[in-house]
Amino acid sequence: MTSTGVKGTAEPTGSPAAWPDTYGEEARPRMGFFTDTSICIGCKACEVACKEWNLIPEDGRVWTGESYDNTSHLNANTWRHVAFVEQRKPLHLDGDTVTLTEPGDGQPEPLRWLMESDVCKHCTHAGCLDVCPTGALFRTEFGTVVVQEDICNGCRYCVPACPFGVIDKRDLPRSPDDAPLLMDMLGKKEDGRVWKCTLCYDRLKGGHEPACAKACPTNSIQFGELDELRERADKRLEKLRTERWNGARLYGHDPDDGVGGFGAFFLLLDEPEVYGLPPDPVVPTAHLPQLWRSTALAAAAMFVGVAAAFVGGRE
Ligand code: SF4
Ligand code: SF4
Repeated sequence: MTSTGVKGTAEPTGSPAAWPDTYGEEARPRMGFFTDTSICIGCKACEVACKEWNLIPEDGRVWTGESYDNTSHLNANTWRHVAFVEQRKPLHLDGDTVTLTEPGDGQPEPLRWLMESDVCKHCTHAGCLDVCPTGALFRTEFGTVVVQEDICNGCRYCVPACPFGVIDKRDLPRSPDDAPLLMDMLGKKEDGRVWKCTLCYDRLKGGHEPACAKACPTNSIQFGELDELRERADKRLEKLRTERWNGARLYGHDPDDGVGGFGAFFLLLDEPEVYGLPPDPVVPTAHLPQLWRSTALAAAAMFVGVAAAFVGGRE
């Protein structure tokens, strides 16, 4: 493990805490996703496959007015979300002759449609996992981050601890039979536990790739060993830059970023904010060592002050 420090803190980075050591011989290579948005066609096969495999309840399909996006963001019932971004920008830096429109003044304008399948980042330093008091959130032998639904007590500490707004409470009855009992007991109608992508832990244990990657027809979602995916992403970025694709960049690929690198990272064609992603995410618990040091210093100063006052008073 390196100890170069998460931005502005003394925390280690580059490798998850206590992984793979705690697994001994059962530890497996760290697995993850490289999502190449330059070849996403917005078919949503990943969203459907995820729902089917994981038996996720419907998420209230609505007409959002955001292009073909009808879920808007990740939540307890949307573990894959395909963003649709319509832009008046050329696809290539030296002009784009592929897609043109004719606005009011008759001048041709470039138009491109960015699509991106978002998912839990399975962070190297995962805020959700750091703050979970029950151990419901844990790091698997594959280096991924998973919630155990039978252990989660619904305290929701993890919700604000995720810098991406991924993990979320489910507002549905656990089952139709539970609803009246829950409503009587709690006065509200909700599951209460938190949910998110498991990187299909059950499928990985069985030697299968995650459902979303399996269903992706263009290979935009690529699953594999993280080290190998990072090398593949470097080569893909180099190719797109040689072909002068407008705005091509990697997001979450750097182990020195604020979460120590993502287990699920992306090739984007514009700034992360354009896709609704934070530009510079930092795990909130990165500042804990500094906070505890300040608290200890303040307590020591107060103790010295009280002792001095006590001794002074006796004289
Ligand atoms: S993206 Fe959020 S929910 Fe996923 S591992 Fe990171 S902190 Fe946890
Ligand atoms: S890895 Fe599995 S749980 Fe995660 S988004 Fe893909 S299909 Fe859903």
